[in-house]
Amino acid sequence: MQAVGHWPDLAARLLSETGIDVGLTQKGGLYLSRSPETFAQRARDLATVKSRFPGDYHFDMLDNAEIRKRVPHIGPEVVGGSYSPYDGQANPLRLLHALHRAYLQRRGRVLSTGGVSDIAVKDGKYILETAAGQVVARRIVLAAGLGNAHLGAMLGAEIPVKPVRGQILVTERMPPMFDIAIEQVRQTEDGTLMIGGSWEEVGLDVATTFDVTRRIAEDALHFFPALKAVRVMRSWAALRIITPDAAPIYEEVAPGAFLVTCHSGVSLAAVHMRDTAGWIAEGAIPAAMSDFDRRRFLL
Ligand SMILES: Cc1cc2nc3c(=O)[nH]c(=O)nc-3n(C[C@H](O)[C@H](O)[C@H](O)COP(=O)(O)OP(=O)(O)OC[C@H]3O[C@@H](n4cnc5c(N)ncnc54)[C@H](O)[C@@H]3O)c2cc1C
Repeated sequence: MQAVGHWPDLAARLLSETGIDVGLTQKGGLYLSRSPETFAQRARDLATVKSRFPGDYHFDMLDNAEIRKRVPHIGPEVVGGSYSPYDGQANPLRLLHALHRAYLQRRGRVLSTGGVSDIAVKDGKYILETAAGQVVARRIVLAAGLGNAHLGAMLGAEIPVKPVRGQILVTERMPPMFDIAIEQVRQTEDGTLMIGGSWEEVGLDVATTFDVTRRIAEDALHFFPALKAVRVMRSWAALRIITPDAAPIYEEVAPGAFLVTCHSGVSLAAVHMRDTAGWIAEGAIPAAMSDFDRRRFLL
């Protein structure tokens, strides 16, 4: 919820610093359901979120007719879906590009030489081994995605992250179809539809598979029958970085060594830039964030 509030400022700052428009829209979002059972489960899940959120939290469960008013393309058989006023979307490729450009403009240095192969501690400093030589630092951030498990082991810290594969279908460019973010079919501002995805525990395998891409296409046609006439240009798979409860971990795992890992690095970018970078600069993660350290997995 904090990230939702901070995203407009992040997008504006990136535009003014780098000239890159990350395509932020915050017009709410839909999560569609294929069956009455998944619709009911969605309602229960969101009721749980609402009951635990310490403030106002709003969502609506919409039937087919109510969704149709906002999204005329919706299929006649779709049971319904949830609407959240907090949802939005941005272009992740442009976000990555903008963050890199801003970092370099602020005299950040990037060593793209295969990463950190070893970490030693000497006189209260970390000595990082890279193919480009040693990097010595008082403070380090473990932000290497799935690579954090390996880096943590070098510091004697067990980092519980696992890969979960997601497959996506990408279509040709289409005229604007939706003015709202939709979980299962997202349209980027250049017109491409990104359809998916999947949640599969298959280790580090990033292959696409026929059974999953077919299921994704079937779901998409159920939700939006008009997609039958749209050409799929490519499919891809990538690995999510998932903790045991799929929530982020923020923790100082050794003195001056901060672990930052999450699944939703796009959504949370606004918090990471505004707050998390400050915690690390100040040398401590605030006590208010202690719910996000690894001790929760020991309970
Ligand atoms: C199918 C799919 C859908 C997604 N949907 C969303 C979404 O809707 N919203 C959202 O917010 N996020 C989404 N995500 C997640 C998001 O895209 C990011 O992948 C996620 O936040 C992880 O980012 P990261 O920077 O932690 O890890 P990564 O992107 O994996 O970056 C880690 C970096 O660390 C480097 N590295 C690894 N080992 C080392 C080492 N030893 N030394 C130095 N560097 C190293 C790697 O080369 C890599 O560059 C999705 C991901 C997938 C796969």
